[in-house]
Amino acid sequence: MINIILFGPPGSGKGTQAAKLVDRYQLVHISTGDLFRYEIGNKTPLGLEAKSYIDKGELVPDSVTIGMLNNKVEAHPEAKGFIFDGFPRTIPQAQALDTLLEEKDSPVAALLALQVDDAEIVERIKLRGKSSGRPDDNDEATIRNRIFVYKNETTPVFDYYNEQHKSHSINGVGGVEDIFERLCELIDAATK
Ligand code: UDP
Ligand code: MG
Repeated sequence: MINIILFGPPGSGKGTQAAKLVDRYQLVHISTGDLFRYEIGNKTPLGLEAKSYIDKGELVPDSVTIGMLNNKVEAHPEAKGFIFDGFPRTIPQAQALDTLLEEKDSPVAALLALQVDDAEIVERIKLRGKSSGRPDDNDEATIRNRIFVYKNETTPVFDYYNEQHKSHSINGVGGVEDIFERLCELIDAATK
């Protein structure tokens, strides 16, 4: 199995690149944000709970997110590997992921972090908000809080995998194809 964490602040292009990587490597894409939005759309109890955090730009509690992620991984026994997009967002989530993948004897191969500065992120998310209809994309205070939460709670995950010599940074500003090729080079190097 090839397990890749696609990392980076909100609006850094994780979803765009994940779709291309899935195509090239035949992996299963798991975006916890997309999973929450699906639950919200169906007004499930999980969705209603998640919405109360997401609309403020806060993180959904670890226990909820980890449980949902575990279910999704277990639902794909045939997978050649996974692209985790927007997960893990905290150290406890990273530890839970490592435990889950240890059971499958297939650890995280690499964490690839897209680097985009705050001003560019805010502009991109506002633009996306016009078509995404996401409440969390259409309120500047919420966008700023997501960036704040990313820096405080999520960037330690980069260091966590760096201690395992798995973290890599990539410039996330530029052409989609150029960024994609850089990601592929890193994945090929990490899995050869
Ligand atoms: N979220 C969360 N945990 C996750 C994924 C998403 O708490 O594992 C929440 C969080 O409030 C975040 C929002 O869902 O701000 C949107 O996440 P998504 O990954 O879709 O947005 P992105 O960061 O890619 O813009
Ligand atoms: Mg996303």
